[in-house]
Amino acid sequence: MANKSGGGYEYGKLYRSEDKVYPREVKGRFATLRHIAMFVLLGAFYLGPWLTWDNRQAILFDLPARKFYIFGMTLWPQDFIYLALLLIILAVSLFFFTALAGRLWCGFACPQTVWTEAFSWIEMAIEGDRSKRMKLDKAPWTFDKIRKKVLKQFLWIALALFTGYTFVGYFSTIRTLTSDLLSFQAGTWELFWVIFYGAATYGNAGFMREQVCKYMCPYARFQGAMFDRDSLIITYDSERGEPRGSRRRGSDAEAQGLGDCVDCTMCVQVCPTGIDIRKGLQYECIACAACIDACDAIMDKVGSPRGLIRYSTERALEHKSYRLIRPRTLVYTGILVTLLTVMVTTIAMRKPVIMDVIRDRNALYRDVGRLGIENGYTIRVINKHNEDHDYSLTVSGIEGIRIRDAVDFSLAGESVLTLPISVIAPHENAAGGNVIEFRLEATDGSGITVTEESRFRGPTGR
Ligand code: SF4
Ligand code: SF4
Repeated sequence: MANKSGGGYEYGKLYRSEDKVYPREVKGRFATLRHIAMFVLLGAFYLGPWLTWDNRQAILFDLPARKFYIFGMTLWPQDFIYLALLLIILAVSLFFFTALAGRLWCGFACPQTVWTEAFSWIEMAIEGDRSKRMKLDKAPWTFDKIRKKVLKQFLWIALALFTGYTFVGYFSTIRTLTSDLLSFQAGTWELFWVIFYGAATYGNAGFMREQVCKYMCPYARFQGAMFDRDSLIITYDSERGEPRGSRRRGSDAEAQGLGDCVDCTMCVQVCPTGIDIRKGLQYECIACAACIDACDAIMDKVGSPRGLIRYSTERALEHKSYRLIRPRTLVYTGILVTLLTVMVTTIAMRKPVIMDVIRDRNALYRDVGRLGIENGYTIRVINKHNEDHDYSLTVSGIEGIRIRDAVDFSLAGESVLTLPISVIAPHENAAGGNVIEFRLEATDGSGITVTEESRFRGPTGR
């Protein structure tokens, strides 16, 4: 259906299309901080897979081998509890820091903000600042416009693909991936994921930008529940700024009945989400502080004190004192300290060797004549250490019980051994349903000992 407008209503559309936002370049202390954060975070991301530790890639999530290498630590599927704990700690930390400092994460550290900043930086370098970009978009397709647009797209695509390639490098050894890509021998899946993550970066940071923060990010929606009246937010001091209005330089604003806001709209022009902070706190505000820098520069120019737009709290705006210790921060601190204690303790107590004992389910037991009663087991030993170890396996729990053939073996670092064994107990002691204990002990002086219980079945157990 064609669009028709009339009487203030727009027919034929389910939603109003968004106007493109052209943020103006801004300079100031927070812009500098944002740039530093961008360089540090992007630098860490792009360099991360190139770091080595113990002659191996320092950070590698090796999904086919089901092993995660994080510097000196190797996480096996049995250790995923630590990853789950880490994710919970990160989530609670986000709640905690939001209660304290508002959306500091969104404005300075969120990948969406950081890559959008990088893409915008390329765009501004090629197409110029806000007014030039607006003019260029409206201008007819001349050679200069095509040249600028093609160059921008080329650099955006290159950065997006490099991001996708680096991301895949955390899952597939980056040096091998690089040589495979350069020699056109990369696997189909590797190519697919490089292009997939490249396209995601391009779409999010090049096109959707503030739309991701406004409509796709769940954090923007539930942040209100994490805020309280003492949370740090970016606010416009309407008491000081209103009534707003332009005035002649050097004129007495007070005599004209005007506040400090000169209504220059700079705070709106620099906003990457295109909002007017003077209308109050809005969920679209990502707390990037660009409006603070813009307004401070204007205040410097007109000779008024800085801080008409500033970091503040609702209580501070009502001239009440700030409270750091409050029920919300106490609860989050308690949960964080508990989780961190659990995490550190469990990592400190983490066993370098895991032993699983699986009882043979095909036969309850076998009568092996004068030798006694025999049960079968499969022992699975996982050596999570990087070094090789020598082990000896013994069994106890029934008088005279023994492993049929002595079990001494060597196990290479980071490897798994599956060992079928037979355990024999004398007839007179082989009562059904006895609990027995397997003990695996390193014989190379490393002090590793693991025990695991199982059951031994005999005739009287039937
Ligand atoms: S930048 Fe400051 S002075 Fe200019 S419109 Fe915004 S609040 Fe008012
Ligand atoms: S209102 Fe200010 S802090 Fe919020 S997104 Fe816009 S420029 Fe950034």
